[in-house]
Amino acid sequence: MKSRRRLWSLFAALGLAASAHAAGPVLVIHAGAGAPRKDMPPAREKAIRAALTQALLAGYTELKAGKPAIDGVTAALVVLEDDPLFNAGRGSVFTHAGTLEMDAAIMDGYTLRAGSVAAIDHVRNPILAARAVMEHSSHVMLVGAGAEAFARSQGLAMESDAWFRTEERWQQLQRALKEDAAKQPHGDEATAKHFGTVGAVALDVDGHLAAGTSTGGMNDKLPGRVGDSPIIGAGTYANSDCAVSGTGWGEFYMRTVAAHAICMRVTQLRMPIARAAAEVINQEIPAMGGNGGAIALDERGHIAIPFNTDGMFRGWIDGSGKPHVAIFGDEDDGTGEPLPAPAPDDAASGR
Ligand code: ASP
Repeated sequence: MKSRRRLWSLFAALGLAASAHAAGPVLVIHAGAGAPRKDMPPAREKAIRAALTQALLAGYTELKAGKPAIDGVTAALVVLEDDPLFNAGRGSVFTHAGTLEMDAAIMDGYTLRAGSVAAIDHVRNPILAARAVMEHSSHVMLVGAGAEAFARSQGLAMESDAWFRTEERWQQLQRALKEDAAKQPHGDEATAKHFGTVGAVALDVDGHLAAGTSTGGMNDKLPGRVGDSPIIGAGTYANSDCAVSGTGWGEFYMRTVAAHAICMRVTQLRMPIARAAAEVINQEIPAMGGNGGAIALDERGHIAIPFNTDGMFRGWIDGSGKPHVAIFGDEDDGTGEPLPAPAPDDAASGR
């Protein structure tokens, strides 16, 4: 009887590991934190929900066909980068000088290989440039003109300024410039609350994870500013247990090394991903004065989507093939994750 029970526990343990793969594939995406309801006309909301669904289905098609997690991430992000609604690729925000400087990163949790690009212009899909750095160079990160030349050498599609420019982003910069003139330079406090970066994390049918993030950065940023998104470990990270893509006030994600901090809680402390992500995003970052959100996924398909802004464009899809999309903070995103019990609050420590 005893040995049968032991045998059963062994099967159960194996079953648990297998069920992770059976639950896969899983894809989670975000298209930025922010989004108060009052700033969201119904037509825009509808368009955003449709775009998120389209990105989920594009990534899921790859994953369902048995392709690696990195392919699911890439396919979803290309759709979001091409959509002018979001602050990545087409529709990126402008720098203080009215120029475009886009950042992107991708990481394969299975191989721990990574690629990133920063402060690039003209490359239609920065996530493809990041992936090319990972797959076709001996480096992890390329920036500026060198990154652009590399993307060209890889045959990636290039576009003119007109492709990327949207009137809405241009006006967003004009408002920020007026605010700059009136008070603090490059503060852009109003628009800093409305981000728009895109990101994806995926679990493939083999149980491997990947993460990717792409952004125009922050509106009115100083030329040359690089945010967290292309920094491996800050805005983007994946290993065999955990994949994270962040969105928010990048300087704080860099200072907390947010994506890596979440994954190390999972890998080293065996902390549930929902709690790990909530501790970093909703405690550490706000305690330092930052804000934003993240999507996180573990190797068993558990999803966490913490954020401390009014809303966050987000969506997920699993083996059932049904896409779930949400925008506002009071909306159930359907991940079914109970809120993690609050961890010890270190806000008082003055960090
Ligand atoms: N984290 C990005 C950055 O600081 C901005 C965003 O998430 O929208 O560049």
